[in-house]
Amino acid sequence: MEDCIFCKIVKGEIPSFRIYEDSDVLSFLDIKPFSKGHVLVIPKQHFENVFDINEDALQKVSVVAKKLSGKIKDVLKADGIRLSQSNGVAAGQEVMHFHLHVIPRYENDGLGTNPTATAHLPQADFEELKKIAEKLT
Ligand code: 5GP
Ligand code: ZN
Repeated sequence: MEDCIFCKIVKGEIPSFRIYEDSDVLSFLDIKPFSKGHVLVIPKQHFENVFDINEDALQKVSVVAKKLSGKIKDVLKADGIRLSQSNGVAAGQEVMHFHLHVIPRYENDGLGTNPTATAHLPQADFEELKKIAEKLT
């Protein structure tokens, strides 16, 4: 998918702070994090959403999200982890390449019970993202 921003991240055409990578799955820090350590887990192959991703890719992405959830909880001392995933514009999906959000939650982080779109958030400081990525890789 030529115009897909996440496909460009997979190919290294757009920089990202990579947390985990294997032949099928990539995880990197969200550029507008809800909280410290907010990562995205994606299949390297382009699938738009839950309706067209195949079960094998979904399983692989889910297993990586589980492993990273434990790691983020331990390393960043998160009090909880929210996994979330949107499908279609009506559901709040902004990037049309399947992705699972792994959102660390901290006591009193002020995010409420259901953080949704990040569009209104500021872009993260890259030095700060670099430090977090170093802790998680
Ligand atoms: P959605 O709203 O589609 O579930 O989430 C898309 C996510 O992708 C948002 O949280 C947004 O901050 C993130 N995002 C969009 N563009 C980029 C980018 O170029 N780099 C990174 N690391 N994250 C991005
Ligand atoms: Zn894509």
